[in-house]
Amino acid sequence: MKHLIDIKHLTNDEILEITELAKFYEEQTLKGTLERKNTGSVALLFFENSTRTRFSFEMASKKLGFDVFNFDAQKSSILKGEGFYDTLNNLNAIGCDIAVIRHSREDFLQELSEKHYDYNLSLVNAGVGKASHPTQALLDFYTLQKHLKTVEGKKVVIVGDIIHSRVAKSNIELLNRFGAHVVCCSPSYFEDWTLTDAKYEPNLKTALKDADAVMGLRIQKERIETRIPYAQYIEDYQITNDNLPQSAILMHPGPVNRDVEIEGSILDSPRGKIIIEQARNGVFVRMAILNLLYKGVER
Ligand code: ASP
Repeated sequence: MKHLIDIKHLTNDEILEITELAKFYEEQTLKGTLERKNTGSVALLFFENSTRTRFSFEMASKKLGFDVFNFDAQKSSILKGEGFYDTLNNLNAIGCDIAVIRHSREDFLQELSEKHYDYNLSLVNAGVGKASHPTQALLDFYTLQKHLKTVEGKKVVIVGDIIHSRVAKSNIELLNRFGAHVVCCSPSYFEDWTLTDAKYEPNLKTALKDADAVMGLRIQKERIETRIPYAQYIEDYQITNDNLPQSAILMHPGPVNRDVEIEGSILDSPRGKIIIEQARNGVFVRMAILNLLYKGVER
């Protein structure tokens, strides 16, 4: 593995290697035997807002012993006209081994990964536009495996703003590969007709029937120009104590809008705890990814 740009570039074996290594890191963390032994450097370059993903990558890097550099997109030389590829090539020459990047443009990471760097640089997609968020899908997969043992044959229902969600896209791709039965549930204005790998069910009650896992999604206000009928959305699509099946675990990539996509009181109850656990699991999964990328190429 040289870069992590998209789920489609990973084989199933590589995905399982990531989750196995994440499990090892989780166990080591619990036992207090984790060693910070890497000597490389990770740069975090976020051009879109992020709290948990950025912090999670920083935590993962530090737990492994990497030096971490946070790049302030507002103050960088990008504004002075330096192309981003040149910036990366310079950061790499200075000693940065891995660049973790979030950007609004969907082909940004792919384009950068096709360039030549003077030294070996690994790129990690930390979320691009509404297209993909592979590390979120990997941590969701890890969380699902922990709770359901396997995703094969399991019904995973993704509820909400599917069309603007990069989390939904990467999850659908990954879960399908491992034999899950993925159902998307949303009003028609959030439906994505291009997604052929998931069944679409507009009625929440029907969609949630016999679900093994339910993933809520945030309404991506920053990507929507039209007016959202919030009151109607909440009435028809909010995940509540009443409609969430007892059989199902509840997940959400965060940040959650309390009392919009999920009834707020669920979040404070035991059924809301897996959402917090996802954030914790994200650190172990990102540790595995950073380590595999760092060890994967000669530097
Ligand atoms: N944190 C996730 C993302 O970056 C989900 C969200 O923002 O709603 O896509």
